[in-house]
Amino acid sequence: MRHKITPQKLLNTVIEQNYCSGCGICTASDQSAFKMHLTENGQYLPQLIDAENPGLIVCPFADHQTDETKIARNLYANENSFYNPEFGYYKNIYAGYVAVGNYRRQGSSGGSVSWLTQQLLNEKFVDFVINVAEQNKPFIKFKYQVTRDLQSNEKASKSKYYPTNLEEVLKFIKRHEGRYAIVGLPCYIKGVRLLQQTEPIFAKRIVYTIGIFCGHLKSTHYLSSLIAQFPVKETAVKHFNFRYKLPDRKVGDYGTQLIDTKNVSYTKPNNELFGTNWGWGLFKLKACDYCDDIIGETADISFGDAWIPKFENDYKGTNAIVTRHPVLDDLIRKNMELGHLHYENMTPEALIQSQAGGFRHRREGLAYRLYLQQKKDNFTPVKRVKPEKIKSKKRRKIYKIRMQLQEKSFYSKHYKDIPELKKELQPLIHKLEEVYEHSQWTKFRSKLKKWLKRK
Ligand SMILES: Cc1cc2nc3c(=O)[nH]c(=O)nc-3n(C[C@H](O)[C@H](O)[C@H](O)COP(=O)(O)OP(=O)(O)OC[C@H]3O[C@@H](n4cnc5c(N)ncnc54)[C@H](O)[C@@H]3O)c2cc1C
Ligand code: SF4
Ligand code: SF4
Repeated sequence: MRHKITPQKLLNTVIEQNYCSGCGICTASDQSAFKMHLTENGQYLPQLIDAENPGLIVCPFADHQTDETKIARNLYANENSFYNPEFGYYKNIYAGYVAVGNYRRQGSSGGSVSWLTQQLLNEKFVDFVINVAEQNKPFIKFKYQVTRDLQSNEKASKSKYYPTNLEEVLKFIKRHEGRYAIVGLPCYIKGVRLLQQTEPIFAKRIVYTIGIFCGHLKSTHYLSSLIAQFPVKETAVKHFNFRYKLPDRKVGDYGTQLIDTKNVSYTKPNNELFGTNWGWGLFKLKACDYCDDIIGETADISFGDAWIPKFENDYKGTNAIVTRHPVLDDLIRKNMELGHLHYENMTPEALIQSQAGGFRHRREGLAYRLYLQQKKDNFTPVKRVKPEKIKSKKRRKIYKIRMQLQEKSFYSKHYKDIPELKKELQPLIHKLEEVYEHSQWTKFRSKLKKWLKRK
């Protein structure tokens, strides 16, 4: 850590300039100056409540903090680990799924995260698991929970493309002795690592960190916009599934399911739902466009989807897994031998290929976004990627349109009125599609020219 930051400085930079992911890490200290609240834009932001005697402020986006590479080097660099410049330190990389129980069927991907947390509880590696569960409440649908109960851990499976924060669970950890495993998105786990450096109680009690690969996070308005495309009122939604597996389709071609309070189930393929194209980035938090950790480099183990051609025809889902902690790697190897995990080794190249879009958007794209912001003299958080005016005119256009789409959708008042939302966003979406179509046509023309020359 380089130096301290004042609450006012954090407010003026990260929070007010919207580089905040809403993780809630800054509320952890006993005398924190902040409290989390859900804004009308559907994101969690810290509210300044007392700046007099704030204690040490920790935030994964603040300039004074240690970066992901340095955190991971301190934890994992040794003679048994490897380093990749794109995704940092690792021990092993696997691709596969859970071959026992209902984990894969109930999971978003191969079911591995739920399987691992269940093993950690079952085999007494930990006393509590911290993960994100569905709430039976009309407005806050998903929330972090602390659980020691196998059933509620299992019920917390599936990805929630929905904001959450760690404020309550960090307070719980402080109040309750025990060993905890925490599941989190990369910036949340980075925040936990920084907290472990400043408050020994977190280092002692949080014994395993489980990272989830992250493309970006959405505001609550994303969920509202999806519900608006079903014949059910938001207040009558009992269960919502962002990742409903559709048999016999390609794995990326999944659907959305909701169950209402009368237990009626509704399902739609995502390609029939407006706004589910991940490349458009609708309702994305701005912070996610300034984040350079795709796979959770500071976690003991990370899980994502193995989006590569080899697995794309298996709709049941296949995880990509990156291990760093030797105990968790041993647990995995033991269960591979027992046949509980159907995992195989994955190359670093295949891992990068499986997240190709994420790496492009957060390396080349991030460099260009930082360049654009700094050209306007705007504050930007310090990143491992350096600002750069990238060469490709086409990519520059794509990134600029995506920034506009992020902003327009994030602040749109029409998130529950799909015809109006479409009217508002279609001009930008068409512009984006035109750039892609134009580039396809250019590629085709140059191939045709080469072919004609050869004739
Ligand atoms: C916002 C978001 C963006 C993602 N982006 C990508 C991506 O770009 N590329 C990729 O390969 N994978 C991405 N994932 C991860 C992917 O969707 C799967 O979660 C992952 O592959 C694990 O699947 P599984 O079947 O092993 O997990 P499951 O067995 O289904 O368990 C999921 C676990 O994650 C926890 N969880 C769910 N939502 C959240 C959340 N919002 N924050 C913290 N914990 C949560 C659950 O409580 C549960 O413990 C993303 C997930 C989220 C939530
Ligand atoms: S990113 Fe997290 S720690 Fe930083 S200001 Fe936002 S909520 Fe607080
Ligand atoms: S993209 Fe980065 S900043 Fe956004 S939620 Fe994911 S890890 Fe956090």
